Amino acid sequence: MNILVINCGSSSLKYQLIDSETEAVLAKGLCERIGIDGSVLTHTPAGKDKVRIETPMPNHTVAVKLVIDALTDTGHGVVKSLDEINAVGHRVVHGGEKFACSVVINDEVLKAIEACNDLAPLHNPANLIGINSCREIMPNVPMVAVFDTAFHQTMPEKAYLYGLPYEYYEKYKVRRYGFHGTSHDYVSARAAELLGKTREDLKIIVCHLGNGGSVSAVDHGKCVDTSMGLTPLEGIIMGTRSGSIDPAICDFICQKENITPAEMNNVLNKKSGVLGMSKVSSDFRDIEAAADDGNKLAQAALDAFYYSVAKYIGAYAAAMNGVDAIAFTAGVGENNILGRAEIAQYLGYLGTEIDTEKNNVRGEDRVISTDASKVALLCVPTNEELAIARQTAALVS
Ligand code: ADP
Repeated sequence: MNILVINCGSSSLKYQLIDSETEAVLAKGLCERIGIDGSVLTHTPAGKDKVRIETPMPNHTVAVKLVIDALTDTGHGVVKSLDEINAVGHRVVHGGEKFACSVVINDEVLKAIEACNDLAPLHNPANLIGINSCREIMPNVPMVAVFDTAFHQTMPEKAYLYGLPYEYYEKYKVRRYGFHGTSHDYVSARAAELLGKTREDLKIIVCHLGNGGSVSAVDHGKCVDTSMGLTPLEGIIMGTRSGSIDPAICDFICQKENITPAEMNNVLNKKSGVLGMSKVSSDFRDIEAAADDGNKLAQAALDAFYYSVAKYIGAYAAAMNGVDAIAFTAGVGENNILGRAEIAQYLGYLGTEIDTEKNNVRGEDRVISTDASKVALLCVPTNEELAIARQTAALVS
């Protein structure tokens, strides 16, 4: 079965066509600048050259149409016709409390996703546009919504409730939801597999460290806590996001800088994190290079980032009363050899021992701790698209 995986943003659309039996990626690509000048589709068919198609994309429906044309093109296409696309899996950022697992999309599901727009105003409306565009162009193809929040719905009340008046939860559903759930789910299962065990027998901490990052505690297969909250702003220090701060800072800075809460929110989301701290870049490679050149702020930003991850690992080892495995994933987690070593330095009290040679790895599944280590450390590349394709195939077949 061929599954088209769609990840739709407000002006972009990423896709992969995956054969669910062989799990091979037949083609992947990206539409950029949808709705703005200079729209471009970059399409990469497996085993063939990448093509770049510059053509106007006034809206997402046009973008989806172009994707289908690219996939079925006689030259750079990978299937003969639309009939060979058997299902579509859509990444949806927020499923609120309504969705604890992936679902086949129907009108009722669409309404329920729309009801979560308030909780993810930048993401859910864009995800819905992607779904509606696909439904318009492929009305007879079954579609599945896979939620970033779903895996975290198993968190107990004590982990998801904030120390706020309960009425905010009652009235507005203000609580911890967590994000990157598809990745935490996939990586925790894969980590167990690499250890020759099942997830149900283990206590696993997953560190998804990308531009955005989150840490989760997966106790015997179920997520029991995660660092992101009502929004993806809470938790560890990130590329441009502050992560957790004293909430009183917001009012303090608003008054000092004469800015509005919305402007402050923008600062916290886009101008903070290692970018704001280092004044160099949000990209960890740039910051590392600057630190190597002796830039003290860059070094301080990196140190604070590693420290914030190590603190969450400590918290989640406590939450689960132990930990068997700690998995690193996403851009930084999979590729930053030094970063993993720096974080591991804080974990000696757990009996953790990183193996310098094994840790010398980028983007590959591997145990990176010594045989004597009491807690296994692993590098596990995430694959959210494959996870979405698997869940879609399971629901429609
Ligand atoms: P997102 O999906 O949140 O945009 P990614 O998971 O793609 O983020 O991660 C992007 C981050 O990964 C960037 O900050 C980048 O610097 C970092 N990264 C990628 N490769 C390396 C590397 N070889 N060494 C250090 N950091 C890396």
